[in-house]
Amino acid sequence: MAEVNPFASAQQEIKRAVSRLGLHPAVYEILKQPLKVLTVVIPVEMDDGTIQVFTGYRVQHNSALGPAKGGIRFHPDVTLEEVKALAMWMTFKCAVVGLPYGGGKGGVICNPKELSPGELERLSRGYVRAVAEILGPEKDVPAPDVYTNPRIMAWMMDEFSRYKGFNEFGVITGKPLIVGGSAGRNEATARGCAIVVREAAKMLGIPLAGATVAVQGFGNAGSIVARLLHEMGCRIVAVVDSTGGACDTAGMDPVKLRDHKTKTGSVKGFPGSKPISSAELLTLDCDILVPAALENQITASVAGQVRAKIVAEAANGPTTPEGDRILNQKGIFVIPDILASAGGVTVSYFEWVQNNMGYYWTEEEVNRRLEEIMVRGFHEVVTMRKLGRDVDMRLAAYMVAVKRVAEAMEVRGWLG
Ligand code: GLU
Repeated sequence: MAEVNPFASAQQEIKRAVSRLGLHPAVYEILKQPLKVLTVVIPVEMDDGTIQVFTGYRVQHNSALGPAKGGIRFHPDVTLEEVKALAMWMTFKCAVVGLPYGGGKGGVICNPKELSPGELERLSRGYVRAVAEILGPEKDVPAPDVYTNPRIMAWMMDEFSRYKGFNEFGVITGKPLIVGGSAGRNEATARGCAIVVREAAKMLGIPLAGATVAVQGFGNAGSIVARLLHEMGCRIVAVVDSTGGACDTAGMDPVKLRDHKTKTGSVKGFPGSKPISSAELLTLDCDILVPAALENQITASVAGQVRAKIVAEAANGPTTPEGDRILNQKGIFVIPDILASAGGVTVSYFEWVQNNMGYYWTEEEVNRRLEEIMVRGFHEVVTMRKLGRDVDMRLAAYMVAVKRVAEAMEVRGWLG
C-alpha cells in the first residue's frame, strides 16, 4: 500500500470539518497550508573535528488565535511534509481545548541516538540560531516532541536568550524546573490522555477496574499513560517500543517496565512477559488501545482487525483517514489525537503563562487546571458529536477546533 502522506491526511480532516460547518470557502483555502515555512541548514562540528550538515524546519501553520505553538522533533525520518502536518495538527489541538495559541512545529533530520551529548548540544543551539528570527514568546513557542527533551529545551532557551541579550524563558516550554519549567509538564501529555480515557470509559459504561490496555510506544507519553491507567485500576497487558515488545495477559507493572527499559534499553524481555510485535499489539484483544508512537500506524489493513473498544491517540496522526473510517464503521470509540494528546501543550501553555508572570504554581494547581481543561474539551467534542448527529469523534473535534479558528480569522478580517 502506498504510504499515506500525513499532510494530505491533515488537509482532509480540515476539509471535512469546514464543509460540515458550512463555513466560508476561504477558511479552507487559508487552513490547508501553513502561513510560514522556514528551511534551515545547520553545520555542526562533530567530536572528531569534521563538519556534518543537518537540515531543519520550522513551520507556522496558523496564528489567528495566538502565537504559533508546537514541538521540535529530532528524527531520521523527519520530512517537510511531516512537519507541515504536525504544525497543522497543533493549530487544531490548541483550538479544541481552547488555548490562546496557533499551531507550529519544528523538525531536524538527524538520529539523536547516534550523537554525543556535545554534538546534540551544538545541533540544538545551531537550530535555534538558524530559526531565532521567527521565534519568541509572542511569535512562536517551541517545545519537546519525539526524541527531544527538557535538557535540549534548556540549551535552546539559553541560545535564544544569548541572541536576545536577556533571559527569555517564555520562548520555549518543556524546560527543566530550575529554568522556568512547569511542575507537571513532563507527565502532562499522558495525564491528559488518561483523563479523556477515564471520561470515555465512564460515558461508555466500561469499568476501568480490570480494563485491559495495550500501549504502542514507551517514551514520554506511552510509559506514563501506562502508569496512570494502571493507577486507575487498568491492567497493562502489552507494550512495545521501537526495539521490541512485552505481553502478559495477567498484567504488568509499568513502573517496573520503565526500570527494565532504563536498565536494558528496551521493554522486551520483561520478566514473565512474552514478546509481541507492534503489529500484533495493535490488533490485540483488549479494552483500550493507546497508540503513543508515530504517524500512520492504524492503516486500512490494520484497522479491520483492531479489537479494542476505545482507541486513545496519544501520538500525533497514528490513524490514517481510511483506517479511521474502518474503526468508526466497527463502532470503536476513537479519542482523536488533537484531543487525546492535548495535555502536553495545555501544560506548556501553563508554563508560558507562569514565565510571563514570573510566578509558579504547585503541581496540584497545574494538575487541577489540566483536569478542568481536558474534561471540558472532551465534553465539548461529545456535545458537537451529538449536535452533528452522525459525525464521528474526530470530525466533531475538528468541528469544535475549526469553528474557533475560523471565528478568530473572521473577526480579525482575514476572510474579507
Ligand atoms: N510536542 C507536543 C505535541 O505534539 C507538545 C507541544 C507543546 O507543548 O507545544 O503536542
